[in-house]
Amino acid sequence: MTQIRIAIAGYGNLGRGTEAAIKKSPDMRLVGVFSRRDPASVSLIDSTVPVYSMDDIEQYQNDIDVLILCGGSKSDLPEQGPYLASLFNIVDSFDTHAKIPEYFSALDTPAQKAGKLALLSVGWDPGLFSLNRLFGEAILPQGETYTFWGKGLSQGHSDAVRRIEGVKSGVQYTLPSESAMARVRNGELPQLETREKHTRECFIVLADGADADTVRNTIVTMPDYFADYDTTVNFIDQQTFEAEHSSMPHGGFVIRSGESGADNTSQVLEFSLKLGSNPEFTASVLVAYARAVHKLTQNGETGARTVFDIAPGLLSPKTPAQLRKEML
Ligand code: NAP
Repeated sequence: MTQIRIAIAGYGNLGRGTEAAIKKSPDMRLVGVFSRRDPASVSLIDSTVPVYSMDDIEQYQNDIDVLILCGGSKSDLPEQGPYLASLFNIVDSFDTHAKIPEYFSALDTPAQKAGKLALLSVGWDPGLFSLNRLFGEAILPQGETYTFWGKGLSQGHSDAVRRIEGVKSGVQYTLPSESAMARVRNGELPQLETREKHTRECFIVLADGADADTVRNTIVTMPDYFADYDTTVNFIDQQTFEAEHSSMPHGGFVIRSGESGADNTSQVLEFSLKLGSNPEFTASVLVAYARAVHKLTQNGETGARTVFDIAPGLLSPKTPAQLRKEML
């Protein structure tokens, strides 16, 4: 079997998860990792895989079938994506939902020009959740789609609590409201306000001499981040914090509640994820879609694509005949 030659651009949480996911895919081989940092300072899970400087990436165009971009959506991908799409077939997890149409165009032009394929916004949301929102709406056109996130660690909100004076360590989890989900599953088609869909929970280690009530009040009244939600603040010691709050869980639910038939029969379609590690799961999705990209490029496809454009059978290492026999 000829293995698909994969490389990773950017080595943070997602890059590390991607390295691990490639290891679990026998039809693929990780040929290298590219970083903007000094390669000697980046240590991989597998020390035999070479780390190269991003400055040299153009030299490796003939050695890579698909490049998986693992940079951040805020500032890395908008800069790296269009440039790398002019050199390689790429996959990324761009997740700034409001800017996806703009980012699609920014990749489409260089990819078309270079005869490359660029698959953007792959992961779980956007990604698998997007597909399930589409299924729900297409299959049950009369109805409502609801997305609930969590229980999950929110990086932005965790950063916000850590900036508060008196906080030594802190994390924030977003939790879906059980009562709101019960109403949706019940087919009530409720109109839900932001506050009604999710709650927030913080785990805080206080700095020496800090006042718990002052810290709690600063958190729950913080505009944009907490003021519009019901927030619980728990104070714990550093040891508990390190033991229980160092992983990156996430997940959520996409629920379509709709009606069918002449008598408006209630139908509920639900997809959910409970992830022990957000970056490791996102990386696993990226790797499966990198396989699809490789197959499509062999058919000569070029330009930008999203998960909506990729047939699911292409994600599998199995042949279409095997899939028909074993999974249909
Ligand atoms: P991260 O750990 O902050 O890494 C982002 C980049 O920062 C890396 O590619 C790396 O680039 C650089 N970096 C990492 N560690 C560093 C360090 N110690 N010092 C300096 N630079 C460092 O971010 P992440 O957790 O991997 O997440 C990446 C993106 O994935 C997020 O921005 C998010 O948009 C996206 N995401 C998408 C989904 C989805 O469902 N679609 C889900 C989860 C995440 P260099 O190696 O070049 O320095």
